[in-house]
Amino acid sequence: MSRARFLPSLLTLAIAASLTVSIDALAAPAAAPAHAAAKTEAFTSANPFYAPSPLEYQAPQFDKIKDSDYAPALLAGMVQQRKEIDAIANNKAMPTFQNTIVAMERSGQLLTRVSKVFFALSQSSSNPAIEKIEADMAPKLSQHQDAITLNGKLFARIKTIYDQRAKLHLDPESEHLLEKYYDQFVHNGALLNDHDKQTIKGMNERLATLFTQFGQNVLASTKDGAVVVDDKAQLDGLSDADIAAASAAAKARGMDGKYLFPLQNTTTQPVLSSLKNRALREKIYRASIMRSDVAGPHDNRSLIAEVAKIRAERAKLLGYDNFAAYTLEDQMAKTPQAAIDLMTRVAKPAVAKAQAEAARIQQQIDQDQAAAHQPTFKLEPWDWQYYAEQVRKAEYDLDEAQIKPYFKIDTVLQDGVFFAANKMYGLTFKERHDLPVYNPDVRVFEVFDPHGKSIALFYFDYFARDSKHGGAWMDSFVDQSKLLGQHAVVFNVCNFTKPAPGQPALISFDDVTTMFHEFGHGLHGLLSNVEYPMFSGAATPRDFVEFPSQFNENWALEPTVFANYAKNYQTGAPMPAELVAKIKKSATFNQGYDTLEYVEAALLDMAWHQIPADAPLQNADSFEVDALKKYGVDVPQVPPRYRSTYFQHIWGNGYAAGYYAYLWTAVLAQDAFAYFNAHGGMTRENGQHFEDTVLSRGGTKDAHDLWMDFRGAEPSVEPYLQKHGLTSEPAKP
Ligand SMILES: [Zn+2]
Repeated sequence: MSRARFLPSLLTLAIAASLTVSIDALAAPAAAPAHAAAKTEAFTSANPFYAPSPLEYQAPQFDKIKDSDYAPALLAGMVQQRKEIDAIANNKAMPTFQNTIVAMERSGQLLTRVSKVFFALSQSSSNPAIEKIEADMAPKLSQHQDAITLNGKLFARIKTIYDQRAKLHLDPESEHLLEKYYDQFVHNGALLNDHDKQTIKGMNERLATLFTQFGQNVLASTKDGAVVVDDKAQLDGLSDADIAAASAAAKARGMDGKYLFPLQNTTTQPVLSSLKNRALREKIYRASIMRSDVAGPHDNRSLIAEVAKIRAERAKLLGYDNFAAYTLEDQMAKTPQAAIDLMTRVAKPAVAKAQAEAARIQQQIDQDQAAAHQPTFKLEPWDWQYYAEQVRKAEYDLDEAQIKPYFKIDTVLQDGVFFAANKMYGLTFKERHDLPVYNPDVRVFEVFDPHGKSIALFYFDYFARDSKHGGAWMDSFVDQSKLLGQHAVVFNVCNFTKPAPGQPALISFDDVTTMFHEFGHGLHGLLSNVEYPMFSGAATPRDFVEFPSQFNENWALEPTVFANYAKNYQTGAPMPAELVAKIKKSATFNQGYDTLEYVEAALLDMAWHQIPADAPLQNADSFEVDALKKYGVDVPQVPPRYRSTYFQHIWGNGYAAGYYAYLWTAVLAQDAFAYFNAHGGMTRENGQHFEDTVLSRGGTKDAHDLWMDFRGAEPSVEPYLQKHGLTSEPAKP
């Protein structure tokens, strides 16, 4: 789940005339009106963002853009959109769909133009000047967003139109747009009386304080939890590089000559897979799992109980049974129960598989202890990674040096990723060397439809560099919209190791999968065929957006595709069958554990966010134990991926009542792949069907309706379970 992410920037979503703003965003400090323009340096036609780029598809003029162009353009963009929104809100004419909703969709084009490029580069090509602009602009953009979402006159117009919607005879996409605007305002409290609005505001302010405190506690307890070792002899099993890193980490904290192991975010710590010393493993494990869960200055237990309670109370005020019900309403799952049902359907076989893995690991322990003439012991959570690694080496080992010569980036891209897109969607790609790029490593391709008509541009920025954030993602410089007459200009960013000059760029199979994944997001962007910018491309709910990308991963191992790209870069020979078999088998390694630890965390998230508003404050420790038991996922050797007291995603970040989304979309992806296989596989006909019902539709319909248009049946978990080897026999006693 760590592999790839969709672009994290909420700002990009919030600005593009869409009002995708979580209610938590209202917790920003009360905003004085932004008189930003006063301090602006001149914004003139010399600024490359002043007008739409004259290049094809409004491709950004990277040969002209300077860092100093961003701030004036961003500030002018906010001023311009505020004027546009005020004009809509204060319009003397009766509210109509055209003069209000469509006008809002047309607003903010300058701001969108500059922020798309600015936030793309702040992720992939940053520098101190860009970082400073980002910090300066964050509160201004947040105020700007609030000024739109809290505009009472604007909402009054939207409500008038919404109330007459039955008589308007709008086309389905327009009707969905109207509902979307109305729902988002209502979701943010637009229908509440002034007293309740004040209450919500107070809750948001309290939550903002608690989020900050939570994050600081996790940071501090994680730092304090770092384990110090005096004696190198205890580090048996670690590589020289690991030991050197531990020594340097100790030195950095003024403990010369010692070894320090800082904790990573997740419960499981990477060092546990190679550390032989069992007592030290236990010490590191306990340090990790007790973060912010002990009495003291960094204890998060009563804090999260309070957050859960406030969220429940706020949801009730807005008319919902609990926070999860409030959050899931506009998602594909719609109800917490639907998400829980899917998770428990996966959890059951995952528990069985984890127990089988535990049995295999116990065997390994018994065997190793016997060989060392030592008494055996019972598998504990701090032993799992170490012995699983022994099992992996014995049964699943993939030698990267053997595999990489078959995966040359350019061949994977053109003969794999593009090849599959051609078979399914009839797309062809032509590299363009004449369009400006922001880094010499970036490549640009023009995309053509089955009739040879040019439809979009696609940028690839594959290699790691210091100015780039970690991970892999997709986003756009320009969103497709018929209303605005725009075609898609999308990009993929990855962090593959750059080869030495003159050497071929060879990657692992994991990286190959990432290329297919990110390209799947890319297809969602470039095949978009919608009227309104709000619905363009990947602008879909959290529990839908990773569906096209995870679906596209499947083609990496599809035999026709694989044979077309996995060729030895020197000899052109295909990959030997036994190597291919090893790659496939390795995908099922430790899947019981990996799935279960994730599902436990996702169910914890759901349990915390289903607490009713009138429930008392919870005891965090016993709540967690009870929740895991309730859902049948309390396997002692497999702790949750995050425990409640350091589960940043659900308390501080944007995944509250949404951590299930990754599994949800993975299930959709495998069921969709099963549909293809049952209907003849990688054919143009199947591809066209997927394009017509999903890839071209963006967010124009309810996500569940999109799925039903494509599949004609509710998603089945079986294909997902099969892919991850979760259907094998349970452990023998
Ligand atoms: Zn993704």
